[in-house]
Amino acid sequence: MNCCKEKPIIELQAGQKLCKKHFTEYFEDKVHKTITKFDLIGKKENLGVAVSGGKDSLTLSFILNKLSKRNPKIKIEAIAIDEGIKNYRDKSLITAKEFCNKHNIKLNIYSFKEEFGMPLDNMLKVLDVKPCTICGIFRRYLLNKKSKELRLTKLATGHNLDDECQSIMMNQFKNNIQASARLGPKVGVKINKNFVQRIKPLYLCMEKEVATYAFVNNLLDEFAECPNVSKSYRAQVRDMMNGFEQKFPGTKYSIVNSFLHVLPGLKQRFKDEAVNYCMNCGEPASRDKCNACKFADKLNKAKDKALVKIKQ
Ligand code: SF4
Ligand SMILES: [Zn+2]
Ligand SMILES: [Zn+2]
Repeated sequence: MNCCKEKPIIELQAGQKLCKKHFTEYFEDKVHKTITKFDLIGKKENLGVAVSGGKDSLTLSFILNKLSKRNPKIKIEAIAIDEGIKNYRDKSLITAKEFCNKHNIKLNIYSFKEEFGMPLDNMLKVLDVKPCTICGIFRRYLLNKKSKELRLTKLATGHNLDDECQSIMMNQFKNNIQASARLGPKVGVKINKNFVQRIKPLYLCMEKEVATYAFVNNLLDEFAECPNVSKSYRAQVRDMMNGFEQKFPGTKYSIVNSFLHVLPGLKQRFKDEAVNYCMNCGEPASRDKCNACKFADKLNKAKDKALVKIKQ
């Protein structure tokens, strides 16, 4: 069924076909309902938005910026991490800078090169590690550390329903239920002042909807993908879920909705797990050293070995 006489640009799960205007209203309404339903944003916030220059983060920034203009007590600023991925992140950061300039959003950029001594591309030459493992650990570490330095009250990320669905399935496949307890629209099992609360306002939006919103609102020109993504476990799960969704529409919604029913119990189950603090940097850690410091040590050792080889 069509929404009006205008040309439809998308067909929703339930079969409804929406034009640009009605889809934009539908999408923004869904994000606002998600924010209200899960109590993601308070009346007064100094909100950070993790921006990569991709469709999800620009869509999120666009909508939160509109929200901030209507509610001046909700201030927003953007944080971007330059991992150092040639021909990908350098390009997407140009998009992020242009976007933030245009919409008058302060953009803070931190790089792996400055913080850990080299870009991700070089780390992968000296360490035998899966790209997304080290990239994810260093990025999460920097986002939390820098959010605290910037005194942000919360950090919004562009994770959508497809991302969450993949994370739930990956944790199931790897028998890592404790990691699932940290998922959800509000990340983590309990409030901890050493973790800036991460929130996911696009939680109930399908990737297809986010891409359509970004495209019809001219938020970016092209959709690029990280060259390392094909090597990741997540990409395999993503392809599997996309195949399943095509055969059985509604699968992704069902997975996330049923997960939301058991999530409060999961958070309760793990809320008393002790959080340690890294003896090196003071950031939260599961043992006496955080994963970022462990990888930073490995990097330093690998660099020393490379220097010895060069001298010989
Ligand atoms: S796909 Fe992997 S390597 Fe690329 S930006 Fe994402 S986490 Fe990093
Ligand atoms: Zn319409
Ligand atoms: Zn540490």
